[in-house]
Amino acid sequence: RDDGVPGRVRVAVRLRPRNAEELVADADFADCVELQPELKRLKLRKNNWDSETYEFDDVLTEFASQKRVYEVVAKPVVESVLDGYNGTVMAYGQTGTGKTFTLGRLGEEDTSARGIMVRSMEEILANVSLETDSVSVSYLQLYMEAIQDLLDPANDNISIVEDPKTGDVSLPGATHVEIRDEHSFLELLRLGEAHRIAANTKLNTESSRSHAILMVHVKRSVLGVEDAIPSEIEKSSHFVKLPKPLIRRSKLVLVDLAGSERVHKSGSEGHMLEEAKSINLSLSALGKCINALAENSAHVPVRDSKLTRLLRDSFGGTARTSLIVAIGPSPRHRGETASTILFGQRAM
Ligand code: ADP
Ligand code: MG
Repeated sequence: RDDGVPGRVRVAVRLRPRNAEELVADADFADCVELQPELKRLKLRKNNWDSETYEFDDVLTEFASQKRVYEVVAKPVVESVLDGYNGTVMAYGQTGTGKTFTLGRLGEEDTSARGIMVRSMEEILANVSLETDSVSVSYLQLYMEAIQDLLDPANDNISIVEDPKTGDVSLPGATHVEIRDEHSFLELLRLGEAHRIAANTKLNTESSRSHAILMVHVKRSVLGVEDAIPSEIEKSSHFVKLPKPLIRRSKLVLVDLAGSERVHKSGSEGHMLEEAKSINLSLSALGKCINALAENSAHVPVRDSKLTRLLRDSFGGTARTSLIVAIGPSPRHRGETASTILFGQRAM
């Protein structure tokens, strides 16, 4: 398998350590998975004797640091965004398995705890020149097929605009904030999170039931070599051709997906059932698109949900996509963990 092929989704699995409750409740039991990071393999236990083995692009154990997770999963994507290509990093998994820990941690007291959002911005700011380039951010929540602006909560039904020629996706109705330093980015993430909590209280739902989407737009001014060095003909020509800067635009999309846990139909009704259906719709549409990419299929079915329409220009072509499959160790969640692992496997 070639790491460098754009278009294919890279899949890394990350196991979170046992939490305090699991340390007690599962004390007499083994974890439901056993990781072999050097072999990039994961074994899912069926019972005491038997297990199923799966291979991933990367296998990150409960000891993997936030820095290492960033370097393995996100850094290649961020570098390609700096080179002018679109990139996406998504976290998929059951609620409580570490998606937000991996992507969204601010690490205010302890910078080693910072997640992928903050580390990516740090890398982008360190590599652009703010005299000629610009970096701007939008922060959104996708809930029940409606896109809400986390930087302006009154703005709760943003439309997706697709350029029919290029296939580029944009959200002209969303707030775009220019970022010049890490401090203002952290402020903005805090503001978005506060608005997310308020919006979800109003909607009477939990943040794990919606997708959080951070979009970082990078606009770079590059001088083409041909433009910088005028040819002999141009030099002698009557019309002096000045080097003209080319504008290169790309975007990085970071997606903290809604919890993938199956909502049992018998246990939910009314609004809860509608919510569960909507999450299932978008996650299964996402799965279909990722499978189509894995199978090199000419048709990627992006039309089936808002989530996949929004990610349309992140699928295939020159775009780079990383999927983090977040899992927990508890044997009591073996069933959910198995279905999460299968989602990741189908992307390979
Ligand atoms: P999710 O967003 O998938 O619902 P969270 O990121 O909120 O899950 O994580 C659930 C809990 O587990 C949080 O208290 C978080 O701090 C903790 N946690 C998750 N991953 C790790 C990890 N790798 N190391 C230590 N604690 C973790
Ligand atoms: Mg979360």
